[in-house]
Parts: sequence; C-alpha cells; structure tokens
Amino acid sequence: MICNEKMYGLGAKRSVIRELFEYGKMRKAAVGEDKVYDFSLGNPSVPPPPAVKEALIKMLTEESEIALHGYTSAQGDKGTRDTIAAHYAEEYGFRLDPDMMYMTCGAAASLTITLNAIVKDPSDEVVTFAPFFPEYRVFTEKAGAKLVVCPPAAGLEIDVKAFESLLNEHTRAVIINSPNNPSGVLYPEEQVKAVAAALERAEAKFGTTIYLISDEPYRALVFDGKKATCFPSYYKDTVVCYSYSKSLSLPGERIGYIAVSPLATEAQELYLAVCGAGRALGYVCAPALFQRLVKACDGLTSDVNIYRENRDILYSALTEMGFTCAYPSGAFYLFVKAPSGDANEFSEEAKKMDILVVPSDSFGCEGYVRIAYCVSTDLIRRSLPAFKALAAKYFL
Ligand code: PLP
Repeated sequence: MICNEKMYGLGAKRSVIRELFEYGKMRKAAVGEDKVYDFSLGNPSVPPPPAVKEALIKMLTEESEIALHGYTSAQGDKGTRDTIAAHYAEEYGFRLDPDMMYMTCGAAASLTITLNAIVKDPSDEVVTFAPFFPEYRVFTEKAGAKLVVCPPAAGLEIDVKAFESLLNEHTRAVIINSPNNPSGVLYPEEQVKAVAAALERAEAKFGTTIYLISDEPYRALVFDGKKATCFPSYYKDTVVCYSYSKSLSLPGERIGYIAVSPLATEAQELYLAVCGAGRALGYVCAPALFQRLVKACDGLTSDVNIYRENRDILYSALTEMGFTCAYPSGAFYLFVKAPSGDANEFSEEAKKMDILVVPSDSFGCEGYVRIAYCVSTDLIRRSLPAFKALAAKYFL
C-alpha cells in the first residue's frame, strides 16, 4: 500500500454509529422523516443558551475583525483561560492554573494531545473502563500505547478490584469518563475514591507516575440534583479534558480545553509536553472566535431539563415494557440490555421497527444497545409504540 495502512483502515471503515446514521438518512428519504426513530448519534438537540448567540452578535458587530479572527497564543487566549479557571474554582472549590491550560478543538483533540504527551514507550498501557467511547482505542493506539479495558461491575459501575489487578509497571495513564458515554452512569463518590487509592498504591508499588485523564464532555449534563466529580480533588496526577460540544451544544465549532492539575507530578514538564503534542499534531491556537465566545459563556449550560425529561419518559417506558438498563444520572444516553444477549440481533430487530440504536460491541461491552436520547421530546413520545412492538417480540 502506498499510504499508511493503519490510517487507510481507519478512513475506509466507517464507525458502526456513522453507518447507522447514514442508513437512517436513507430510510428517512424512503419512508418519511417522522417515521424513523433515529437514536444513533450524540448530536445535541437542545439549542445553545441564548447568551451564545448574543455574545457572537456582539463580538461580530462591535469588535475589530482583525483581532477577532487573528491567531491567539498557541495554548489559547489568556483571558479565556483565566475565566475558565475562575469559574472552575467557584463551581468545585479547586484552583486550576490558567498557565497549565491548553485550549483545544473539543474533547477528541484534548484526549489525543494528552495521550501523545504522556505515552513514551511501545510497552506503555492505558487503562479504561468499559463501556467506553470507541475513539479511546484509536487515540491510544495512535499515541503508541496499548488500550487495556476494565470490565464493568453490576450496574455498569467500576469494578475496583478488577481495575487494580490491571495496573502494572507499564501503566502510564487511565481514562475515566463520568457521566459516561454510552451508559449515562455517574460513578459514585466511593468508587472514585477507591480508584484514586488504587492508583496511589500502584504508583508507590511500581515507582511510576500514572496520570488519570478525565474525559469530561458531559460534566455539565447531570440530573437529579447530583454533581459531576471534580477529579483533581481526589487524585493529584489528574489531567482534565473538557469540551463545550455538549454543555453549550456547539459540537461543530470544535472548542474545549486541557487542564493539567497544578498538583500533578512534574506538572510543568507534562504541560510543556501537552504544548509540544498540540504543536506536533497541528492543534496550536484553537478556533479564536469560539475561544472568545467561551470567555463570555463559560459556566452556562444548554437546558438540561429537556434531556432529563427525555430520560424520564424513555427510562420509565422501557423498563415498564420489560427492558433492563442502568439508571442514567447524566449525559444523554441509555444503555439497554439486549433481551437475547445479542446486541447485533437486537439492533437489527429494532431497525425493522425503524428504531435506530447502536449495538454495544464497539463500546467494549457486549450485549447492549445505546440509545442517544438527545432528540426532540416529541420524537421520544412518538417512538414509544414502536418500542412496545419491539418489546412484544421478546417479552410476551
Ligand atoms: N469523549 C466522549 C465520551 C464523547 O462522547 C465524545 C463525543 O461524543 C468525545 C469525547 C469527543 O467530543 P468532541 O466532539 O468535543 O471532540
């Protein structure tokens, strides 16, 4: 092959999610938009808070175009980083250092930059918890390490014993994602504490540093009066990878950040490696207009109540019909057990009812389907008879 075979493979093979989304588009054209219940993609359906449009209009009408669209410093606008650090301190009581933050093109860039900054040897391992966002494998392998998957405990929470048994002298990093895509589960505080303690024991035992990479695109989407975890307060060697894709409903604008905890081992060295990886990967200067937008809107969130209402309707209807799923306290996903145990079979049966749900194998957890309920509440209500017909195939 004339080009890089691994890259060719990634480009040539569409993800299962994209495949299903494309099928949905075709099907909608054939039978009508309103007849297909497309739960395939995590694309927010709730508009950004009104302040987003207002801030954009104000910037575009009142500020110098040259300054507005010009390069910022490679690691991002200082005023934006100062604002983010100040809001984070207000929200979580933890002081991030603006000079250890790097503005990025969303969580995907945050993760790939961080992994490239940390991984240094082909024997390096990165552990993550199943179920997990499938791109973790792509990013980890491209950074030159091996992804090690920790299977879940009951309720799709963390099996801390299993996790600790996977840590060894090769473990360089751990990726954690809470609230979780695809399960919506928010890991309870006692499990976060137990993970931190296991990491500290492993660092002492192997004489190494293990960085905890907290992937947080759903940090602001938490329901029932709960609050997302501030990982740097539990474990010092933490790197926060944040994104505004879901919190401000701006997935196409590509904006987020990396924050190396100022308490981390060799924090300054790691931060410079993050800056170096950003440079090497061509990610210097995240989109300037949206860095400035974030300065005006950080701390705001799209209307979470709409996602909560969707969750409530779907969770109670599906469990009443006989389906089983872990209770989602955040994000906008429901991870439903395939009644036959076969995720692909279940997804295909659902397709016959024009319900599009993603089989779970690529999430590192067999036997489930993911429902992305970031769709209109009307679509959720209209989909219930189709779910009922699907349930009838299994439970009557
Ligand atoms: N991490 C998780 C868990 C996600 O679900 C997503 C996107 O859906 C990402 C990272 C990538 O986010 P972004 O669009 O901000 O790059």
